[in-house]
Amino acid sequence: MQDRGKRVLVFDAPRTGRASEVAPGVVNPVSLRRTVLTWRASEMLAIAGAFYRDLGLRYEHSFWNPTHLVVIFPTAQEAGIWQLRTTEPETSRFVRMDTSSDQVLDALPQPFGRGIIERCAWVHVQALLHLHRTHLRTQGALLEEQVEDAHIERVADGVRIGEHSAPIVIRCGGPFDDLEGLVPVKGEGLTVRIPGLFIPKAVHRGVFVLPIGDDVYRVGATFGWDDVWSGPTDEARHHLLDRLERMVEREVEVLDHWCGVRPASKDRRPILGRTGEHEFVFNGLGSRGVVLAPWCAQHLCDHLFDGAELDEAVRVERFRV
Ligand SMILES: Cc1cc2nc3c(=O)[nH]c(=O)nc-3n(C[C@H](O)[C@H](O)[C@H](O)COP(=O)(O)OP(=O)(O)OC[C@H]3O[C@@H](n4cnc5c(N)ncnc54)[C@H](O)[C@@H]3O)c2cc1C
Repeated sequence: MQDRGKRVLVFDAPRTGRASEVAPGVVNPVSLRRTVLTWRASEMLAIAGAFYRDLGLRYEHSFWNPTHLVVIFPTAQEAGIWQLRTTEPETSRFVRMDTSSDQVLDALPQPFGRGIIERCAWVHVQALLHLHRTHLRTQGALLEEQVEDAHIERVADGVRIGEHSAPIVIRCGGPFDDLEGLVPVKGEGLTVRIPGLFIPKAVHRGVFVLPIGDDVYRVGATFGWDDVWSGPTDEARHHLLDRLERMVEREVEVLDHWCGVRPASKDRRPILGRTGEHEFVFNGLGSRGVVLAPWCAQHLCDHLFDGAELDEAVRVERFRV
């Protein structure tokens, strides 16, 4: 928005359960449930990579960390599906069997072998948000206040919130928004120390294990559709530890148990568009906010300022009956 020369005022009251506070920030172009490419994977990756690299230059911080993702096949059937995908034109650009030798990875239990997903990345979301908030604050463009619908006054040429007025307001309240088609999905994860393991890159076997340095790993995350605001649970902790211990077969020390709520949508696409005369929405980033947000922001700006049509797949109207 600011890049388009617009003045922006952000109202963001950090609320418990917000997704960005806990997201490990993995960018993975392959859906591991069905081993298929995610929605417009190549396009989204290219835009996201350029966006985070550019932001990194501005903040003198490297946000975009390219990596491979190692997938340990849990069953022979999974290994077979993977093998098939390596022969299909679209997916073969991203997935391959991993027959290379690596002392650390070879030591993990893997009776059915392992694969590699190319062109993954991870973004330190919390570091990025911290720097961005500081930047906005120094510009006087961040107010850490909660804005309820009743606080928004509709006036002839825009909206007014307290003493601030603007031609438009865009709601980006994530899982807290009351929006048709939005499905809040709870996610829990652990930060653990596993001395002497030295896994070199992100590994998945039922759960992600992401090395963040000094023998520390982020492990997660669960998916839960009930009771999403209830905070961390023993059930999820046991589930994650069980999967992790089966993967690494070592002592694990739990340093942190984190929990947040994903703003998913019924059809797993973002939700963008107009909700009132001067009101818009930017939501539905689900479990892939890191890779989707740059494209969504660009797409909504093209719509708002250049009059471009919104892609039908993301229009907020699709959920209206
Ligand atoms: C456990 C977990 C793991 C995840 N892992 C990944 C991952 O590895 N990779 C990935 O790409 N994505 C991941 N995600 C998803 C990702 O976190 C989300 O897609 C993304 O953070 C959504 O961003 P958002 O800004 O829409 O919502 P949020 O991050 O929830 O932000 C919404 C913000 O709006 C504020 N707010 C809400 N209502 C109001 C109001 N009325 N007034 C003022 N402020 C308000 C909130 O306090 C919050 O700061 C994960 C999510 C979870 C929960």
